[in-house]
Amino acid sequence: MVTLDQIVQFAKSTGFIYQGSELYGGLANTWDYGPLGSLLKKNIKDAWIQKFQRESDYNVLIDSSILLNSDVWKASGHVGGFSDPLTECKSCNQRFRADKLIEDHDKTVSADGWDTDKMYQYILDHKVTCPSCGKHDFLPIRKFNMMFQTYQGVVLEQANQIYLRPETAQGIFINFKNIQRTSRKKVPFGVCQVGKSFRNEITPGNFIFRTREFEQMEMEFFVKPGTEMEWFTYWKAFCMNWLTSLGLPESSLQFDDHKPEALSHYSNATTDIRYKFPWGFDELWGIASRTDYDLKAHQLQSGENLTYLDPDTNERYLPYVVEPAVGVERLVLAFLTSAYDEETLENGETRQVLHLHPALSPYKVAVLPLIKKEHGEKAFEIFKTLSKYFDVTYDETQNIGKRYRRQDAIGTYLCVTIDHDTAQDESVTVRNRDTMAQVRIPISELRSYIEKQIEF
Ligand code: ATP
Repeated sequence: MVTLDQIVQFAKSTGFIYQGSELYGGLANTWDYGPLGSLLKKNIKDAWIQKFQRESDYNVLIDSSILLNSDVWKASGHVGGFSDPLTECKSCNQRFRADKLIEDHDKTVSADGWDTDKMYQYILDHKVTCPSCGKHDFLPIRKFNMMFQTYQGVVLEQANQIYLRPETAQGIFINFKNIQRTSRKKVPFGVCQVGKSFRNEITPGNFIFRTREFEQMEMEFFVKPGTEMEWFTYWKAFCMNWLTSLGLPESSLQFDDHKPEALSHYSNATTDIRYKFPWGFDELWGIASRTDYDLKAHQLQSGENLTYLDPDTNERYLPYVVEPAVGVERLVLAFLTSAYDEETLENGETRQVLHLHPALSPYKVAVLPLIKKEHGEKAFEIFKTLSKYFDVTYDETQNIGKRYRRQDAIGTYLCVTIDHDTAQDESVTVRNRDTMAQVRIPISELRSYIEKQIEF
């Protein structure tokens, strides 16, 4: 399996991901997505929207604000409760998340649902050591609120203090009535959203796995109370299927069903889909049955009636909610590590190849004139036509073998080569990244051929 260092190097040298603010010495744990990385991210988001919203007759899409009225975060419990347990090594002053220290100390222990006293006692009793200096002398645990604060307007007054959202979900809950009324959806229905979230994480790290600025894809699925377990099971399977149909192997994925004592106070069932990252299995996607906790909290705080009237039965109730929430960057890391390969060919050469599902490939097609001077014009014409429909790249430098290798390494699914015969037979050679097999396709059929090949 590929190491994290290999992936970081690969991502940087090919143009997937660069260190943030590199020109000025960097800003810790920030990352910029380059020409390939931004296309990969776009394709992941498109694939999610395609299956969760476009092809689903239940679901709609919204795009709410990052900055919300602070009452939203009071109601949701984030102002009082969105905190991580922070401890500090007395010897080297490094800060750590106490729950992660415990779980790293003993991989069979889960500190989910533990209070700070229980965590601190465990750290003392088990002589948990500091990962940085090896001593075991930690300060008592305090709660550290992870919301980024900022101010709206020109006066730095407490009254103007607002937060960058730590999740996209609340933008959906506060619009529940608007969305239901204007889309005329009947329960059960879901609302999807893709957007940036911000958390002042105590210990960001593992490359793009945990950062302070990241993108989430969340769906809040509103159901009749009493039916939530059915829907919870349905969406668990749906999410897992989305991952495997995009090429993540089943053997690298597992469900981690939370035990009743580890559930958050608002949840009656939660599972994480965990992926086998280079350092081991870790959370990729959280799926929670959140009861009516959020709608009830907003109803109370806002004083507005948020109940739903079932037009068929005339029953009035606050819907329950099932929420699958996943981070785009964690998916980028999972897809990159799973797709990366160094193959030894029959002639002994090593081929670096990125076996991404073609729906995710930054470029679906590379258009390559065999000889620039002779075939360049026709090739460029084909590039112009195909780029109306697909992400296509054009490459005319170096010999064709080197160009194939370059495209293999960045995951381009098909290479279209324009050669001596093209002028006669109006056909091109199409080479497949994975099999390296080549077929001859008439130019007039190229678009439909590519569409079939990359279907998701
Ligand atoms: P963790 O336990 O790893 O901190 P969480 O349980 O707090 O994550 P959720 O609040 O359930 O995470 O968020 C849903 C999803 O958003 C996560 O499964 C993950 O994919 C993504 N996510 C959460 N925090 C971060 C982060 N700091 N950086 C990148 N992605 C994140």
